[in-house]
Amino acid sequence: MTDSKVYLLDGGTLVIDASDVHWHIDAGTPVRFPVYSVLIEHPDALILYDTGYDLDHVNAVLPFELPLQTPEQTIPAQLALCGYKPEDVDIVINSHFHFDHVGGNKYLTNATTLVHKEELRHAKVPEPFERLGYSDVSFDYPGVTYRPISGDYEIVPGVWLFETPGHTIGHYSLLVELQNERSMLFCGDAAYTRTTLEKEWIAGFHLDPTKSVEAIRRLNYLARTRDADVYPSHELESYEQWKVAPQFYGGS
Ligand SMILES: [Zn+2]
Repeated sequence: MTDSKVYLLDGGTLVIDASDVHWHIDAGTPVRFPVYSVLIEHPDALILYDTGYDLDHVNAVLPFELPLQTPEQTIPAQLALCGYKPEDVDIVINSHFHFDHVGGNKYLTNATTLVHKEELRHAKVPEPFERLGYSDVSFDYPGVTYRPISGDYEIVPGVWLFETPGHTIGHYSLLVELQNERSMLFCGDAAYTRTTLEKEWIAGFHLDPTKSVEAIRRLNYLARTRDADVYPSHELESYEQWKVAPQFYGGS
């Protein structure tokens, strides 16, 4: 059987306050962090987990997050680095529907969007404090094909979604098993940083802080029992140690 290849797609950076990275910690300290997507070239399907942010949207709606994104850091350009066009993607799954994870969905017009049914409902009718997070609804373009799911879910053999709610109501983390390399556990915003996982410090943005702590414990449990390397979502120091596209993991 052919092994999967896993590409990390660079989507540029944003700035938030340190107290939003770790709730109530280091208030008043701006932190620049990476935004990335995960492309999985699996024998059964080409899958994209998260799609970064749309620069025009952030400049218009959240300019205070000081976006830095070159034309090479958009989803079409990053897919091209890996030899693909947006129409080649079969399945897109967003860890959640916040603006910095959905900006490229609109280019993936042949893909089926796997979506946690609660996440889709919340994105459409957010609580007042969630409105900025869910401000980019371009993922809901005319003609989009949704497949609602719930619970843990195996997308194709060896590629798993695990429910990790708290940051949002229907948040999914992703586990990719490889034949000759360690499994890769992509936390999504259930863990912004390694410190999140080590100290169980949740992010400042959340729907349910108690569930957020449980999600962190679930990620640590999965990393331990599945022998997986952990990839937090928004930490420059970690990100700079990883291989990014056109380099890849797996494929042997
Ligand atoms: Zn995020």
